[in-house]
Amino acid sequence: MKKVDIIVPCFNESQVLDLFFKEAYGVVSKIENYSFEFIFIDDGSSDNTLDILKEYSKKYNFVRYISFSRNFGKESAMYAGLKNSTGDFAVMLDSDLQHPPRLIADMLKAMEEGYDCCSANRATRDGDPKLRTFFTRRFYNLVNKISEVDMPDGAGDFRMMNRKMINAVIAMSEVQRFSKGILSWVGFKTKWIKFENVERAAGETKWSFWKLFKYAIDGVTAFSTAPLKLASILGIFISFSAFVYLIYIVIKTIVMGIDSPGYASLITIVLFIGGIIIFSCGILGEYIAKIYMEVKNRPIYIIRDSNLDEEKDDYEKK
Ligand code: UDP
Ligand code: MG
Repeated sequence: MKKVDIIVPCFNESQVLDLFFKEAYGVVSKIENYSFEFIFIDDGSSDNTLDILKEYSKKYNFVRYISFSRNFGKESAMYAGLKNSTGDFAVMLDSDLQHPPRLIADMLKAMEEGYDCCSANRATRDGDPKLRTFFTRRFYNLVNKISEVDMPDGAGDFRMMNRKMINAVIAMSEVQRFSKGILSWVGFKTKWIKFENVERAAGETKWSFWKLFKYAIDGVTAFSTAPLKLASILGIFISFSAFVYLIYIVIKTIVMGIDSPGYASLITIVLFIGGIIIFSCGILGEYIAKIYMEVKNRPIYIIRDSNLDEEKDDYEKK
C-alpha cells in the first residue's frame, strides 16, 4: 500500500489544531488503498501546541511530530517535514484549515493520472485584507516578469508531490528558502486545481505586513538577478547623460566664457547621482547578505524534541 505523508507546520496553533486534526483525519480515514501519516512540525510555538501534538502521537500511531528549538519560520518547517518524510507522496497543509483537507482525495487522483505534483490554488483572495491583496498582486506581476521561474498568483505550498519531486526539493538545501520559487524551479508535471479562499478557522495569521514585505524581497532576490542588472543599467544611463552634459558644458564655457551660477543644477545632480549610488549599493548589499548567509551553511532547523522513528542527523545538510 502506498503511503502519503501529511506535513503540517504549526506555530502557536493550539486554538485550531483540534479542528484541523478532526477534519483532516475524517477525510483521510475515508480514502481507501493508501496509508497516511501525519508529520506535524511545531515551529517553536510558545503556547501548548506541542502538548497537543504529543497527545495525538500517544493516541494514534500514525502521528509524528517534530518540535524546533525556536521559531525558524514556515519555510524551515516545511523543509523539515519533507526531509523526514518517508512516504511515496507528501502533501503540505496549513494547520488553520485554509487548505481544505478534502482536496487530498483529488490530489491523489492526479497522482494516479501520472502527474508528479498537484497544486491547489486559491481561485480568489476574497477575505484577505485589500491592501495585502494589492501588494501581493504587484509582487507576482513583478516577480514573474523578472525571474527565471513562473510563479502563478494564488499558487501556494498546498501541494502533493511524488517521491521524485520531494527528493528534488530536498536537494535544494539553501538556507534562505522561498518555496514558491523552489517548487516551480524543480519543474515536473504539475496538475493545477482550484479552491475557494476560506478564512482561517480560528487563531490569527502569523504574517505581519512587514514579514510579508521581507519575504517578497527574498523571493525576488532568490530567483532573479534583475535588480543587479537594473543597477548596472542605471549606472550606464547616468554615465552617458553625464558625458553628454560634460560636452555641453565644455562647449558652452569655450563659447560663452565661465559662468559661475549653477548651484541649483549642481546640487540636484549630486543628490540624484548620490541617491542612485546608495540604491545600487543597497541592491548589491541584498545579494552579498544572501551569499553571506548561505556560505555560513547553518542548519535550516534544529530539532528539540520529536517522536520520529529514527531521528536523522538534523545538522547534516546535504
Ligand atoms: N507557520 C509556521 N511558522 C511561522 C509562521 C506560520 O509554521 O513562523 C504556519 C502556521 O502555523 C500555519 C501556516 O504556517 O499552519 C500558515 O500560516 P498563517 O495561517 O499564519 O499564514 P496565512 O495563511 O495568513 O498566509
Ligand atoms: Mg492561514
